[in-house]
Amino acid sequence: MDLEGRVSLVTGGSRGIGRACCFALAAEGSEIAVNYNANQAAADKTVSELSALGIKARAFKADVSDEAQTHIMIEQIMSEFGHIDVVVNNAGITRDRSFLKMTVDQWRSVLMVNLDGPFNITSALLPQMCERKWGRIINISSIVAQMGNFGQSNYAVAKGGLIAFTKTLAREVAKKGVTVNAVAPGFIETDMTAVVSEEALDMVRKMTPMGRLGRPEEVARAVRFLAAPDASFITGQVLNVNGGMYM
Ligand code: NAP
Repeated sequence: MDLEGRVSLVTGGSRGIGRACCFALAAEGSEIAVNYNANQAAADKTVSELSALGIKARAFKADVSDEAQTHIMIEQIMSEFGHIDVVVNNAGITRDRSFLKMTVDQWRSVLMVNLDGPFNITSALLPQMCERKWGRIINISSIVAQMGNFGQSNYAVAKGGLIAFTKTLAREVAKKGVTVNAVAPGFIETDMTAVVSEEALDMVRKMTPMGRLGRPEEVARAVRFLAAPDASFITGQVLNVNGGMYM
């Protein structure tokens, strides 16, 4: 139980990779704040399953792209839990289109959720992490930031920005007891990839040495490792969880 007494906030913790992160961090004894945006039923389900395991967990609704909502949520979490020790900046969306056809709305909405979101969350909670001299910031990037992907220029830019943010912030807060790392998943079985055509998924399988998509739990294990004391001397890194698709 390496995270006993710690509080973890997982943005987009209600479904997919975020949900798996909630359970992985809870398995180490952490209390869990589950953020969601629209699907309250999914968030409630995650919270009640965590509570059934004896873990203190609460759901908090906020659109991470909205600075005001984000700051209100951080205040609510602080008054409920007292502190936030681990944050997983996981909430993300896709709005795929080839660049020639991409609208400015598609471009901006992806950047606002996937990149401004982590800015809003991190800037709101970093001061108390620095004050407490302990913190773990884990940003969920993507293999698409490293390889590019047809139809995802907006998403690749946001996820690439997250890697640059990770490395820069890691340098700035290293002496304050806060580590900042990124996890870059390959293609993972969640609602996000459920909309991808079977033909495209077959191509992904062919391009992946392990010949399959990943599972949310496989990403969550990397997150748990980076949050735990075992990773105390690791900062500014990108941990790839991709079945060997990008090396
Ligand atoms: P998912 O199944 O679509 O779940 C997305 C989660 O994010 C949901 O909990 C959703 O909550 C939340 N969310 C969406 N927009 C939000 C917003 N504006 N504010 C707060 N929460 C919001 O996605 P996933 O596949 O688990 O992906 C999780 C992260 O991993 C994303 O950052 C994604 O880019 C990244 N990733 C995924 C893959 C993959 O293959 N799946 C690969 C690489 C990286 P609501 O339901 O309430 O909207």
